[in-house]
Amino acid sequence: MRKSLLDNLICLDCKNSSFSVAEDESNQLEILNGRLICNKCGSSYQISGGIVNFLRNMNKAVSREREAMDIDDYISDEQGNKYKITDDSIRQFSEVFFSLPEGDGSYFFKKGGSFQTIAEASDRFYSTLGQLSITGKEKVLEIGASFSYASFKFAQKGCSVVATDISNYLKVSNLFVKKAYYDRMFSDMHSIPFADNTFDIVFAAAVLHHSKDLKKVFGEIHRVLRPGGRLVLINETSRGILERVHPVYKEMEEKGYGDTAYTLAEWGKAAHDGGFKKAKIELLSLADDYVTRRKNRGAKLDFKLRLAYFFKKHRGFEKFLLWFTILPRFLTRPKSWRLICYK
Ligand SMILES: [Zn+2]
Repeated sequence: MRKSLLDNLICLDCKNSSFSVAEDESNQLEILNGRLICNKCGSSYQISGGIVNFLRNMNKAVSREREAMDIDDYISDEQGNKYKITDDSIRQFSEVFFSLPEGDGSYFFKKGGSFQTIAEASDRFYSTLGQLSITGKEKVLEIGASFSYASFKFAQKGCSVVATDISNYLKVSNLFVKKAYYDRMFSDMHSIPFADNTFDIVFAAAVLHHSKDLKKVFGEIHRVLRPGGRLVLINETSRGILERVHPVYKEMEEKGYGDTAYTLAEWGKAAHDGGFKKAKIELLSLADDYVTRRKNRGAKLDFKLRLAYFFKKHRGFEKFLLWFTILPRFLTRPKSWRLICYK
């Protein structure tokens, strides 16, 4: 972390905003090891490997999920060897991480590969980033940043960024920060250690559906956004009103993950209850997703793929047709969508 992070930080125990830094080790980039100490109540927060730890009094669900991620064999290589996310594997697969989200075309990003889902959602990430019209002056908070490639992209655009996550996957950021710096902290989205009105943008990809208390999370995000600021959510799961909860959620829960299948109506209500007066749910292009997915799987240019390309080229026509899919998508499966909330 850098000392500039202290500007808007607040203590989780007493909400005070003044800290002392006990610095044990630093490099030219940042403080690597040490402690932050609250000047009011004396609470102390560990800095380790550049990442500040604001996880405390973790509720059971959060600590279970953190443990589940630590023991998960996230990476499998072509020979079938499995690797957890550790300092060693981060070093070993640094080129793979650097190529996120779209990937370098290698095995890891293809069908069945460890990073397939991220690669196949990469278009959605870039199109959202494009729509945000970033100037480089924004203060950005990423929630559930995981490997934090999104924070890296925001930082490359010049934004001042804080990446947060509950898991050690965040340690991958140590690769990225050498090229474009951003702060990182272990922190829980239900209790964000920043003062009111701090950020211009809060960004999250496939994160909030891990919460069992969406209203609280939206409330926290609303609080730390400055007036006029935006919350941008992509890749969140959701189910149609008539759709039964997919058995995969049960499997995930047994492994310790908190994934929940909310309907779009529940998403909208939680955003509203959390304080957002304006929450816009956008159902995204089906053709975009289809093309990205088929291309990544090396598909031949057949009729369906040609049709998808046609829709991509004639956006007005696709939008017109999408209008007819709104109701079926709300009822059965929303597929790709995005939520933008304005404070
Ligand atoms: Zn305190």
